Amino acid sequence: MVYVVRELCVACGKCALYCPVEAITVGEYAFVDQERCVECGTCIRAECPVDALRQPDLKPPRLLRKLFSDPLATFRETEVPGRGTEEMKTNDVTNNVKVGEAGWGVEMGRPGVSTKFTDVEKVTMALARQGVEFLDLNPVTMLIDKKTGMFTEKNPWGISPGEIRALRSLSAIIEFKTPKEKVPEIIKTLMEVSKEVETVFSVGLISRWKDGEPELLPLVRGIPGIRVYPNGKHNMGLGRPGS
Ligand code: SF4
Ligand code: SF4
Repeated sequence: MVYVVRELCVACGKCALYCPVEAITVGEYAFVDQERCVECGTCIRAECPVDALRQPDLKPPRLLRKLFSDPLATFRETEVPGRGTEEMKTNDVTNNVKVGEAGWGVEMGRPGVSTKFTDVEKVTMALARQGVEFLDLNPVTMLIDKKTGMFTEKNPWGISPGEIRALRSLSAIIEFKTPKEKVPEIIKTLMEVSKEVETVFSVGLISRWKDGEPELLPLVRGIPGIRVYPNGKHNMGLGRPGS
């Protein structure tokens, strides 16, 4: 966990300025609130003028704060840096989401507004009740029972559901897919569960292109309270396009 060597600190406040969750307070010296700190490493990279900040190697469950929060940390289980998932970002190569299906990325929290894992579980449980298919190569999926959406001890780190619920991170991305017909129902579910969580989340919908527009666009256009921002992504040269 990040800590300050008090004897070195000159209380300049630079590290506190960079902390995205306001975990650092500065009086005679800087102090890190370990409950708030998500181990993102930003203060370390802010280059303390007297090198007074330390972040020792972390072990689970604390390590998971870093894996979900530090864009330079690599999730060993998915071998992907930057919060450990690229399932939805590379759909034009992986072809995970096919015509007739909807891919979803629910990104909980963001810099400045972190997320408790109790909130992540509320959303995964609500989605599990809708029978969604959670994508495998995703750090959140690795922590849950895919049928119930509840945290399970059957995870790569062997940490208990209680320890997972005590975690907090800058963000956590839930990825899943559904048949396209379920799009309005899933949006309704997400709008309902949004009232129960203490953080923000954004929803990305991955659609294949069909008949001159994104196949899912007609399903979301016009839903009250939803603004749609269609955008495209092509990973040129990374693989063959999915059929
Ligand atoms: S940047 Fe370094 S010297 Fe300045 S408040 Fe933080 S720990 Fe102290
Ligand atoms: S590691 Fe991140 S969250 Fe923790 S004190 Fe440093 S900047 Fe703040």
